[in-house]
Amino acid sequence: MNIVIFGPPGAGKGTQSKFIVNKFNLYQLSTGDLLRKEIKDKTQLGSEISSIINSGELVSDKIVSNLIEKFVSNETYRHKIIFDGYPRTLNQAKNLDNLLKKYKQKIDIVLKLSVSLETIKKRILERQIREQRTDDNEEIAIKRYKTYEKSSEPVIDYYKKSNLFKVVNGEAGISEINSEISGLIDTIKGWL
Ligand code: AMP
Repeated sequence: MNIVIFGPPGAGKGTQSKFIVNKFNLYQLSTGDLLRKEIKDKTQLGSEISSIINSGELVSDKIVSNLIEKFVSNETYRHKIIFDGYPRTLNQAKNLDNLLKKYKQKIDIVLKLSVSLETIKKRILERQIREQRTDDNEEIAIKRYKTYEKSSEPVIDYYKKSNLFKVVNGEAGISEINSEISGLIDTIKGWL
């Protein structure tokens, strides 16, 4: 089963992805983590994208689609991917469908974590202390939320057209969100 986890920065996508990976034996594909690794490894791509990431903007669709094709084309991950932080634009959503079609796969469920800006500000500041992410401070958090609001609407509309789209209350506690997500995944497992 392939899952898309969707939501604003700080919604808990990474935390929930890790839970799903363990419970359902999947692999997490976080475009944010892959991009941060390029910066940490000081690659050519890393130097091109670091200022974009630190300003809270999105990197180009082409860069992220190249990163995800490496995963989707790999037999090890076949039908076992949780897409965390991808797609973020309509173009990326369409690209993901085409890519999955090319490798004879599909998305089985899209989980949207719904969280208010107030909660996000609070969580991002906590994460900044914990993980020392250079793009986590209040000003950039708001910028990233605004970027999300602008680009996410067409993606949500795109997925709402299928009955794959499920909204999860991201304001709840971590274990409550875990249970809600497990319940939703269990319902689709029945017909896979
Ligand atoms: P994340 O860890 O998912 O919050 O991503 C951190 C940053 O990486 C984002 O603010 C973007 O600058 C960049 N990024 C991650 N995923 C994508 C994506 N799918 N498209 C464009 N930029 C992305």
